[in-house]
Amino acid sequence: MNQSEELFERAKKLIPGGVNSPVRAFRSVGGSPFFTKKASGCRLTTADDRELIDYVCTWGPAIHGHDHQVIREAVAEALAKGTSFGTPGPAEVEMAELLVEIVPSVEKVRMCNSGTEATMSSIRLARGFTGRSKIIKFAGCYHGHVDSLLVKAGSGALTLGNPDSAGIPESFAKETIVLPYNDLQSVQDAFAQSGEDIAAIIVEPYPANCGLILPEDGYLEGLRKACSDNGAVLIFDEVMTGFRLGIGGVQERTGVTPDLTAMGKIIGGGLPVGAFGGKVEIMDCLAPLGPVYQAGTLSGNPLAMAAGIASLRMLKDTPPYERLEQLGAMLARGIREAAEKKGIALQVPQVGSMFCLFFSESPVGNFEQALATDADAFKKVFQACLANGIYLPPSAYETCFISAAHGEDEISRTLEQVRLALS
Ligand SMILES: *Cc1c(COP(=O)(O)O)cnc(C)c1O
Repeated sequence: MNQSEELFERAKKLIPGGVNSPVRAFRSVGGSPFFTKKASGCRLTTADDRELIDYVCTWGPAIHGHDHQVIREAVAEALAKGTSFGTPGPAEVEMAELLVEIVPSVEKVRMCNSGTEATMSSIRLARGFTGRSKIIKFAGCYHGHVDSLLVKAGSGALTLGNPDSAGIPESFAKETIVLPYNDLQSVQDAFAQSGEDIAAIIVEPYPANCGLILPEDGYLEGLRKACSDNGAVLIFDEVMTGFRLGIGGVQERTGVTPDLTAMGKIIGGGLPVGAFGGKVEIMDCLAPLGPVYQAGTLSGNPLAMAAGIASLRMLKDTPPYERLEQLGAMLARGIREAAEKKGIALQVPQVGSMFCLFFSESPVGNFEQALATDADAFKKVFQACLANGIYLPPSAYETCFISAAHGEDEISRTLEQVRLALS
């Protein structure tokens, strides 16, 4: 048994499935997960001293690569002043000012500790603001493990073969209307049928938790209009896409402005941070100003704020986006060409530093189509790449990430291995 296998055996005795988040368990690709003992730049070092080029990037946050010196120093400086105050601190104000400046729709913002908290609180706020109870979500979109949103929720649950979680009362799920992504007619129908009851639409503007799916022309604009016409709140879950696809996320890219935005991942620079923000009139419904309660002992934690602020400042001052787009396009193009040469049906949707491999004859525009792709073919490529030093996400339904620490050398090496793996 190697070190990782030994650690996994010990973990399984005490931690359900041996992991603290299910997708880490490698269930859908087979075998047992490697353990990481350190990470630097675009590389992970496993407990068995193997070096892997990382395309998971801690599932999104590590846009600067791992263990970036600037973030490390910012955290060290904050650490010297104490780890938690329980009173407001200056870093929280700095963070709020940054977010309002960077994210087009955000006029006021509240910090929390995870993406899940951000979406959960956004939903509660939308319900409190509108006085309505129903939520529209889209099949395949993942919004964290919030009870009422864990319905047809994409990768994590999918990977375990049960798209919906046990433990969610039918009465909660009933408040969630699940519609297919990229189908405006179904949204209009839902509003025609129960418009008076619909508090919000929550959407990953570019769904990235069932592979990577892109909106058809006019789709996000259509969601915006449906909400405006019907007095519902449009919530963009930009936990994944925020600060990654351009600093202002999909809303900046597309010019479609939501009422509320849920943020996470990159915003914490590798520490646990979430945030949600939007229109003043909605945000001011939050306690202590308004009747919607939301709180957190460690919200706005000074270490987390220091890491997040350092991360966002770098994105603002030296934007990596153009280079990331080039690297992403280079990798996606190379993979497509390799598949074509070998006569393998493969779609490689890519935008900026995000891409995925869908083994499919035709482009994937929704959850049903994602489910119909060949997950076994992905599994083979995943294992072959892992054996040769390339770590892709351990599920056919996850998005791969490139960081600013990846270079052309790593991209070329990766292409070489993916080419060999495609057979
Ligand atoms: C990761 C993710 C979440 C949940 O964030 P956590 O920090 O894991 O709770 C929510 N929404 C989207 C789009 C995500 O990618």
